[in-house]
Amino acid sequence: MMRFEDETEAAVAAVAAAAILCTRVQAALGAAGRLSKADRSPVTVADFGAQAVVSHVLSRALPAVPLMAEEDADALRSGGHAGLRAQVAAEVEAATGLDEVATLAAIDRGRYGGAPTGRYWVLDPIDGTMGFLRGEQYAVALALIEDGEPVVAVLGCPNLPWRLDVPEGPRGVLMVAVRGLGTTVRPLSGGEITPARVAQVARPADATFCESVEGGHSDQAAAARIATRLGITRPPLRMDSQCKYAAIARGDAAVYLRLPVRVDYCEKVWDHAAGWLTVIEAGGRVTDAHGRPLDFRQGRTLARNAGVIASNGALHDQVLAAVAPELAQLPSQ
Ligand code: AMP
Ligand code: MG
Repeated sequence: MMRFEDETEAAVAAVAAAAILCTRVQAALGAAGRLSKADRSPVTVADFGAQAVVSHVLSRALPAVPLMAEEDADALRSGGHAGLRAQVAAEVEAATGLDEVATLAAIDRGRYGGAPTGRYWVLDPIDGTMGFLRGEQYAVALALIEDGEPVVAVLGCPNLPWRLDVPEGPRGVLMVAVRGLGTTVRPLSGGEITPARVAQVARPADATFCESVEGGHSDQAAAARIATRLGITRPPLRMDSQCKYAAIARGDAAVYLRLPVRVDYCEKVWDHAAGWLTVIEAGGRVTDAHGRPLDFRQGRTLARNAGVIASNGALHDQVLAAVAPELAQLPSQ
């Protein structure tokens, strides 16, 4: 039997079901489908719905494994959000048959805080909410962490073109990575499964780098200075969500720069766990901006890290050297 076979099968089923829900909600997205969280990021029916669907599918397949997920149902339970709650319940019922009470419970199962040993799932139900709202890139990102490291990862990317150089071609990509077994890519709607490998780029000047669309999530001016130091002349590939990790894993870009813009922001585990394994198993490397490994043992945040650098591996040390002059301005933790 393949390593992590049951876990991988459950994760693929969960992400595929959530991606269908997200695709349907995105098509029908209206102003009524949003509310503001304290951090003002828009949270949609699909965030809650996707979390409920993934939580439900995983709990049926592997009931003993806890779930750390981005959302909780507090806002939905409050009196002011009855309309949103009903929309979420309707979407989740259509996808799973769960009623409203079970849906809220499935969302709240995601409150797990993490542990340095043992197993738990990590979920971002919609990573890249801004991209989702713009009709651009977003991802359903799920990983299984075992003893502090991701061992299974599934990235559902409903709007990612099968081929980045054919942007008007078919879309919807599922990346699956298993520790020690590599990363694969397949159409989200089903079809041929092929291995994903990072770009074979040996000279930094030949690289494409990717970064966030949102300037508030990554320092784009610093990235431009780093690119200049590396001799990179191609424009940055700007994408929302962990689709950037998918782009590195399948060789669309060779470098991903995520440079802190705020000293008080800690990266979240669910924003990186699935992407990390997807890149590692495709032959790449991932560190923070200081070159330190990502430490997934610090609860719900990457409290010991600052920023993220992912690459095809071959370029990583040169990229870190080009990042170094920026470090004085980064939070050094
Ligand atoms: P991206 O689509 O790559 O721009 O990243 C989206 C993620 O950025 C969201 O899921 C948020 O958790 C995260 N985020 C929010 N604020 C910040 C910030 N100040 N710095 C870095 N990431 C952030
Ligand atoms: Mg996210």
